[in-house]
Amino acid sequence: MKTISLIVPCYNEEPTVNLFYDTTEKVFAKLNETHEEQYQPDYIFVNDGSADNTLNVMRKLHDAHPDEVHYISFSRNFGKESAFAAGLSNAHGDFVAVMDVDLQDPPELLIEMVDILDQQDSEYDVVGCVQKSRRQNPVRAFLSASFYKVINKMSKVPIKQNVRDYRLMTRRYVDAVLSMPEYNRFSKGIFSWVGFKTKYLEYEGVPRAAGETSWSIWQLFDYSLEALVDFSDVPLKLASFIGGLICFLSILGLVFVVIRAIFFGGSVNGWASIVSIILFLSGVQLFCLGIVGKYISKIYLETKHRPKFIIQERR
Ligand code: UDP
Ligand code: MG
Repeated sequence: MKTISLIVPCYNEEPTVNLFYDTTEKVFAKLNETHEEQYQPDYIFVNDGSADNTLNVMRKLHDAHPDEVHYISFSRNFGKESAFAAGLSNAHGDFVAVMDVDLQDPPELLIEMVDILDQQDSEYDVVGCVQKSRRQNPVRAFLSASFYKVINKMSKVPIKQNVRDYRLMTRRYVDAVLSMPEYNRFSKGIFSWVGFKTKYLEYEGVPRAAGETSWSIWQLFDYSLEALVDFSDVPLKLASFIGGLICFLSILGLVFVVIRAIFFGGSVNGWASIVSIILFLSGVQLFCLGIVGKYISKIYLETKHRPKFIIQERR
């Protein structure tokens, strides 16, 4: 008998928790029917400070299945990344999966994932999922494609486009992820950084089973920026590069001005262009200062050593 821990972050997911449980139970029944090895699910629901009745739904589910279903409830909303961190550090299964509760990460795929990982001498330690066609509006699709392009250019950890957070991991892979204590957690980057061999499954995207997505475009944009700063120092180099380039150009300008003054005498024309240049350079300086500031703020948050989440209740 092997245990598979399922880490399921939930934020205002009252309508979906039971749906998720029922669907996944059926998948495990099928898994155990078709395999000689038996697998026991170990549900770890993480209530990420939901404002609705999600916690009560979890309590009831735990009461009905006290051995199989556990939950961790945060004192407020800490974000999905913190929910992952809480789940991973409490998962004791031989295999550990992280998946969304809204059934956009189809539990049926678990069977294929288990087949890949649970073989003697399997070369893979993690199975990830990539969404083939994603039904989203064109603006979101464009922004998301640009994000993957930029981060793959700027960072040394490769991140596959449209990879979901849905994955099944071996024990040693989970331990590697847990050995990364950072406060600023961009899990797609962390999962890629730890290495090991990843197998990607492709599947057709499905809409949410119920409820609504809690991500606005602005939040996604902010999340992308954070990710970039967490896993790349290219923006810092960019700031130095822009500074260097401007220095070089201004030296050329200076030479031009000196030569012109020697041969043609001084001129008082051109104050408008000087003002524009000064304004432009001030802008560049503030921009670069902003980049540096972003990294300093990350250092600030890391050095505080605050907990990634606070647990209010668990069972
Ligand atoms: N989620 C979370 N905390 C948050 C936001 C979302 O735990 O602050 C959970 C949410 O309950 C869901 C998963 O993260 O299980 C993915 O969220 P959602 O479906 O809203 O995102 P999408 O599928 O649109 O990327
Ligand atoms: Mg979703």
